[in-house]
Amino acid sequence: MQNRALLPQTGNFYKANLHTHTVLSDGHWTKEQVKAEYQKRGYSIVAYTDHRHYGWHPALADDNFLPLAAFEADLNEVFQKPGDFSRVKTYHINFYDTDPVARGGFTAIQPPQRYGDVAGLNEFISQMNEQGFLACYNHPWWSLQTHEDYRGLRGVFAMEIYNHGCELDGLYGYAPQAYDEMLRTGTHLHCVATDDNHDAYPVGDPRNDSFGGFTMIRAPALNYGAIIQALKNGDFYASTGPELYGLEIKGDALCVRCSPVEKIYAVTQGRRCYMAVAEPGHTITEACFPLRGDEGYLRMDCRDGAGNHAYSNAYFLDVL
Ligand SMILES: [Zn+2]
Ligand SMILES: [Zn+2]
Repeated sequence: MQNRALLPQTGNFYKANLHTHTVLSDGHWTKEQVKAEYQKRGYSIVAYTDHRHYGWHPALADDNFLPLAAFEADLNEVFQKPGDFSRVKTYHINFYDTDPVARGGFTAIQPPQRYGDVAGLNEFISQMNEQGFLACYNHPWWSLQTHEDYRGLRGVFAMEIYNHGCELDGLYGYAPQAYDEMLRTGTHLHCVATDDNHDAYPVGDPRNDSFGGFTMIRAPALNYGAIIQALKNGDFYASTGPELYGLEIKGDALCVRCSPVEKIYAVTQGRRCYMAVAEPGHTITEACFPLRGDEGYLRMDCRDGAGNHAYSNAYFLDVL
């Protein structure tokens, strides 16, 4: 195999929350408060994904902060009981605008409301892609969705492997199984971790849903074009705590460097999983796994002692 950096070795890592709500939909903070609170904690990027509301807030941009123009669309199953959303399946999809300046304005639109018509939904996503939006499939578990619902999705560049708001809401924030299911049925897509914050509780309250899931984007500079290009390339990883410093193919091995963790796992397309595990009371910060070449895809899951994960994107060996 050719030596190759899977995560770019140059550029800076920018911390991003790619899913947020403000008072423009059902969030509790203004867009300015969101910027202030996230900037205070080292974030450089927030995607404003209010429900059905296209959020383009260029006045928030400065040398150290980049707001991404976006919105969250939904497609609900028909309500069994009028007014009772609790058992209604739903697709939630974030759309990130790749060039809001050239667009000069947009009004959020909704997919055709025909749950079960995956072809119709895919047609909508395809049209949005053509118009210059990246689509992200959100929180399948909270959405009460199963493989049946999401395996046919096309045109999504990523899905949420972790959604912090959902984790706090009902312990249904993690979706590594759904990610593997998508990958194993041939959908090539990346994974992100997000907050999906609504901030109904103040900072400091354990129920506050900000600052739990983030995406580290590696790009040459903090500007709109560079960050969108990095998203398209998959130059990022998802995390609930640990950091990935490097991920590369060296000789016939996959090598990873990360912040101190207990477990470094390389998940593959099949049941074979490569692992490096620290002795009790210790941590590890790197591992190299010899590859056979028949792994299909590889994705890293580095877990620390507190149960937090850093997730790489999946890399398919046949397209490396
Ligand atoms: Zn949602
Ligand atoms: Zn949301």
